Amino acid sequence: MTPVCPACGASAPAPRLTEDYYQPAQKRYYKLYRCAACGVDFSDPMLNPPPGTYALLYPGVEGFPGLKADWRAETFFKKVPAPLKVLDIGCGWGVFVHLALLKGYDASGTDYSPEKIRVAETLAPGRIRAASISDFLKEGLSGSWGAVTMFDVLEHLDNPLETAREALRLLKPGGLLAVTVPDRRGCKALTNRHYDSPPHHLTRWDPGALKGFLERAGFRVLLIENQALSLLELLSRFTAPLMTAASGAAAVFNGPVSSGPAPAAGTGAARKPAGGRKAVAALLKVLFSALCLIPAAALYAWCLLFKPHGPALFALAARTDQIARISAPATQDR
Ligand SMILES: [Zn+2]
Repeated sequence: MTPVCPACGASAPAPRLTEDYYQPAQKRYYKLYRCAACGVDFSDPMLNPPPGTYALLYPGVEGFPGLKADWRAETFFKKVPAPLKVLDIGCGWGVFVHLALLKGYDASGTDYSPEKIRVAETLAPGRIRAASISDFLKEGLSGSWGAVTMFDVLEHLDNPLETAREALRLLKPGGLLAVTVPDRRGCKALTNRHYDSPPHHLTRWDPGALKGFLERAGFRVLLIENQALSLLELLSRFTAPLMTAASGAAAVFNGPVSSGPAPAAGTGAARKPAGGRKAVAALLKVLFSALCLIPAAALYAWCLLFKPHGPALFALAARTDQIARISAPATQDR
């Protein structure tokens, strides 16, 4: 049977098979097709991961990213001025909501992960819910937000078009939707193939596919930007797994830490690690970072020379019924 594209509903002309991907953890194959009508790559079968998959892929609280604005947040703050009522769908640890509140946005967030919600609530008390877009709509909250953000969400969904159309209904007339997705043209040296494959990521995008998708969902696309690669970004990609390893190694070196409530790193609510463990972890992190600096700098120089595409796309779109309050240039792609 010809697979149906989840981003536009087309099954004809027939999509092109682009990859037969073997998922080692599940010991099964997923086919990846490129829709001939809209250009989105999608998985067959189009099924959400089995329970527990995300827990295996994502680190626990030791993976808390810190309170600094990442590329997604920085781009949003630059393009969409406060004050504005913002809902962050898939808010994760709540860092974006926390920073947005500090910057004067009336921000709130929603996520599915109980562990992340617990941390997010400490960062943004009273602002986090475990609710779906459908829940908000059922509560009569359509037309309530000036902006909705979905950072790194679309690629996980088995119903992206329906979700984007629901997100549109949450917006006031003229409201803005900001999304980020991995850019399938992104530098392969910076991409974890298993991370960016089914069932973790069910769709793959490029600027054209993302623009058409947002327009079908009822938006006017204001801009699409490819993520620029910085030396810091490259360094963090090298060091992130090593930082986790450093904490683990320090724990082994110093023995187990006393049990306590679930930690919320960076929030002040985290339980204090033993002094020795903290010192060893810090020492290992400095050592690992120094070791990673050389390959990261080499890769950065290579990027400056060959200008590969960055790993992600940021899109900003507005409901088509109003002019958005933004003075950004038209759709652009680095
Ligand atoms: Zn399609």
